[in-house]
Amino acid sequence: MTFLKYDLHTHTTASDGSLSPVELFELADEHDIKILAITDHDSVTGVKQVIELQQQKKLKADIKIIPGAELTCLLNNQILHVVALNVDIDNPLLTKHLLELHALRIERAEKISLKLQKCKLPDLMPYVLDKVKDGQIGRPHFAKVLCDLGFVANEAAAFKKYLGAGKSANVKVQWPELEEVLAVIKNAGGIAVLAHPTKYKLTMSKLRKVIAAFAELGGNGIEISYPGVTREQQKILKYEADRHQLLVSAGSDFHTPANTWIELGRYPELPCEMPHVLKQCFDRKVEITA
Ligand code: AMP
Ligand code: MN
Ligand code: MN
Ligand code: MN
Repeated sequence: MTFLKYDLHTHTTASDGSLSPVELFELADEHDIKILAITDHDSVTGVKQVIELQQQKKLKADIKIIPGAELTCLLNNQILHVVALNVDIDNPLLTKHLLELHALRIERAEKISLKLQKCKLPDLMPYVLDKVKDGQIGRPHFAKVLCDLGFVANEAAAFKKYLGAGKSANVKVQWPELEEVLAVIKNAGGIAVLAHPTKYKLTMSKLRKVIAAFAELGGNGIEISYPGVTREQQKILKYEADRHQLLVSAGSDFHTPANTWIELGRYPELPCEMPHVLKQCFDRKVEITA
């Protein structure tokens, strides 16, 4: 089976992306994408904006927007990202969950700022807040400011020197547990997809355990096609998806056109014989019959 062109993992200025929600929508149209999930980190404000504009018939392109979010959580102290697809963005439990994450993120940002000051850097909070505007604050905003002010050569260097795990401005956060996040997604009528499984820097045996626990706790799907995943890794992910009866998903994890190696709507080809999240999210209208 083939689907219309889609991307099920993308970011906007509502979190750490560089395009506004409407700019992302327009870029999706330029790329001929017909199904777009907007999945900002711990936020649905970007996707909400696009859906409202669509309802007011203010957006021309006919793109099916999937309301989503990439939710940060912990499983045995390991940070995981869960892409929630097709959620009711006005669900009270989800709204409460996102407000709590907002508070956690603000609190973390203040701690990061203090740690950076201990590294003899100025108070970056005003610059960071200026970048964040009304979006969800994250480490990439600090990385951008550090870069703009010339303290590091690029954003990757900011993570390497200050913001990454174990580095001088790293702050440990008590993110919500995976189990709680899965319950929130379920309550909001959504589908829970384990994001970019090979990006957690886990050994394969640990990753296998994470996938098993994710499925055991009620997770629905797993990304198996995304930039950077190798053929060898994808083979293992396919096997694990099959073993745990997880639906498969694909997305670019697009953040910005400045990263020319990550293009909206582009990811390794997804094996068509596997049960796909889009089949679960929608009816057959999303399929192309060749
Ligand atoms: P946060 O959710 O605030 O902890 O930030 C996580 C985000 O930071 C990820 O979604 C990436 O967009 C970005 N990120 C993580 N690690 C790096 C890195 N080494 N270099 C550049 N960006 C990174
Ligand atoms: Mn990000
Ligand atoms: Mn992620
Ligand atoms: Mn992402």
